[in-house]
Amino acid sequence: MIIFPDLPNVEVERVEVAEEIILTLRTTSPLASCPLCGTASSRIQSRYTRTLRDLPSIGHPIRLIMHVRRFFCKRSTCAQKIFVERLPDLCCPHAQRTKRLQKALCELGLKVGGQVGADVGSEHGISGSRDTILRLVHQSEPPALREPHVIGLDDWAWKRRLRYGTLICDLEQGLPIDVLPDRTVETVSAWLKKHPTIDTISRDGSSEYASAIKKGAPQAREVSDRWHLVKNLVGCVSVLLAESFAQFRRAEAAGTANSLEEEQRSHEPQGHPRTRAEKRGQQARQAERRARYEQITALQNQGMKSAEIAAVMGMAERTIRQWLSRGDVPYAGPRKPRAGLLDPYKTYLLERWHQGCHQGVQLERALRAKGYKGSQRAMYRYLATLETSVGSPPKRSPTSAMSQPNLLLTLSARQATWLFFRREEDLKAEELESLRQLRQANPHLETAYQLVEAFLHMVRARTGEQLDMWLKAVQASHLEAFQSFVTGVQQDKDAVLAGLTLPWSNGPVEGQVNRLKLIKRIVSWGFSFSVGEAGLKRTQGLKQRRPLTNVLSGVAC
Ligand SMILES: [Zn+2]
Repeated sequence: MIIFPDLPNVEVERVEVAEEIILTLRTTSPLASCPLCGTASSRIQSRYTRTLRDLPSIGHPIRLIMHVRRFFCKRSTCAQKIFVERLPDLCCPHAQRTKRLQKALCELGLKVGGQVGADVGSEHGISGSRDTILRLVHQSEPPALREPHVIGLDDWAWKRRLRYGTLICDLEQGLPIDVLPDRTVETVSAWLKKHPTIDTISRDGSSEYASAIKKGAPQAREVSDRWHLVKNLVGCVSVLLAESFAQFRRAEAAGTANSLEEEQRSHEPQGHPRTRAEKRGQQARQAERRARYEQITALQNQGMKSAEIAAVMGMAERTIRQWLSRGDVPYAGPRKPRAGLLDPYKTYLLERWHQGCHQGVQLERALRAKGYKGSQRAMYRYLATLETSVGSPPKRSPTSAMSQPNLLLTLSARQATWLFFRREEDLKAEELESLRQLRQANPHLETAYQLVEAFLHMVRARTGEQLDMWLKAVQASHLEAFQSFVTGVQQDKDAVLAGLTLPWSNGPVEGQVNRLKLIKRIVSWGFSFSVGEAGLKRTQGLKQRRPLTNVLSGVAC
């Protein structure tokens, strides 16, 4: 069994195996070189014993007892009269641990911090106190950094809402490279000026970073981070949904009397037909019902009973009685769309639509090839929906019809927002049903959904070339909720376009910000300063040796 690797000029004299394995070693080289002048010497001055800790073997800690020698330097002019022979493969001068044990402790410190590293290490026979681990971490060489070309900028809170710092990551290497004390234009642009190799910068939509980049790195292309774009869109849509839900709830509270009144007030169909053909169909149906109603009242005026009228008209007696008791023609309403054979293909159709394919014949052929078994009419009806809601959405109307709002009231506006933003294939059956009802509840919601879908498609497929078309669709929708988002996008259009086209995003920076937050919390909770300091050093790319104690002392969660 090999307990100890072969080292040149080192002989194992004795092995004791107990709780701890003790190896007695002796150096055998006849000569040793002076560390100062390099002259080889064979003149031994004295011997002494040195103890070293080594990596454990099968869970047993290993202790080395080394018999080493002191030599006289042969060069008379050398300042080092006496020196101790060196064992460069095994340990550093004066060290109490072998190099490989030091390396293991340093790695533990970098990964989990001082105290946890010491605890985990001692369980596995790797001995080293918290302070030893921290000292090794501080002594370790930082990794060689190459000049960055693609970076991500993001802010993080020293103290929420009061003080923010900036974290900078090299996106090509996925490594944090610096932490700036604030996020002001001056600080960030000064840093950028020192790194002229940077050609691409991913950032959030904040105007501060945009100005800093224009000032400090005008050569760089700005990329608006996709995550932040979607986050802003979520904000706008949640406002729209909250308003709609308030409307649902008011309608629910007003009760049936109100809705009946509203229905009677209007002789126009209220279902917001999406196409001209549908509108004509609805008007025709309504006109036909009105004609029938007039016939029924005429028969009633002639003194006929409802059963007789039913027989004459070929209608159910119950319907006749209902119509007569209402005193008006009930509105037929739009036909409720059912979950159909087309549903699984709608995402695909939408995608093709955005790619510019508006040809029904072509789309049908593609759909049939994908296994669509439904009718041609259903497909054309859906394309008409796209044309109106994405291409040229319906005009804003003060009264909006709602179908089945009761079921929707089990949702919160926040939950509804997430239904809009999650991938349809990730939704459960009941969530899909809620989404379907939500989209039918109000034409604005359908339009908003189509717009969100189209935007997410650009984000996921990075088809930024569709941005102009999308902005036009938003404008045509007259949805106020989207206006602030659109204004933001238009002000920062080049960067947004880059964000929707290039592969770079702030994802890796966010990950590092979260790491930084965790470290900051551990520090401010006062669990173990060592963990935080070691971790933060790593987060800074082992680059700076700032007096973190001072900086972090003012940090709160
Ligand atoms: Zn010498």
